[in-house]
Amino acid sequence: MKKIMVDMDDVICDGGFLSLVNQFLGTNYQKGDIKTYYIQDLIPKEKYPEWMEFFNTKNVYDFCEMLPDTYEVLEKLSKKYEIYIATAYIFRDNEEYSANNLKNKFEYLYEHLPFISPDNYIFTTNKEIIDCDIKIDDKLSNLKGKAETKLLFTAYHNTEIPKEELEKQGVLRVNSWKEIEALLYK
Ligand SMILES: [Mg+2]
Repeated sequence: MKKIMVDMDDVICDGGFLSLVNQFLGTNYQKGDIKTYYIQDLIPKEKYPEWMEFFNTKNVYDFCEMLPDTYEVLEKLSKKYEIYIATAYIFRDNEEYSANNLKNKFEYLYEHLPFISPDNYIFTTNKEIIDCDIKIDDKLSNLKGKAETKLLFTAYHNTEIPKEELEKQGVLRVNSWKEIEALLYK
């Protein structure tokens, strides 16, 4: 069986981080307002300690939604491929809060994707070391390393990467799980 590496945030589920940022700031930012990969860059630097305290009392995945068709397509693909979920859990600016994030990620996956064994969860920041036939991620740099098929999942922060750049890196853009199904479930 071929192996697929699937990213979690903004590929399986999204919205949680932005929802918490809006709750904290009293704002109503939408996905289209964000230009950077790190949504927390919307928080003014001086408010950061307060934000992390707030964030640490919440489970970001309580505010996430699963992206359309994720469950159905992944379940279908799991009959034909070995599915691995690869997701980073270390907070860039606050490593000390990461253990909680790891726990929240585990619980979300365990509850929402019961057909994928926890043995197939990979918690790492460096996905380049992962050797899979197919990689699906919304962050271009996570598609580095070995793989015969590399799929960039469209997300708020990557819409402006030109097609030529993707071609140069041997990457194909996909906009939905239905598109992934069409490509991989032939
Ligand atoms: Mg992601």
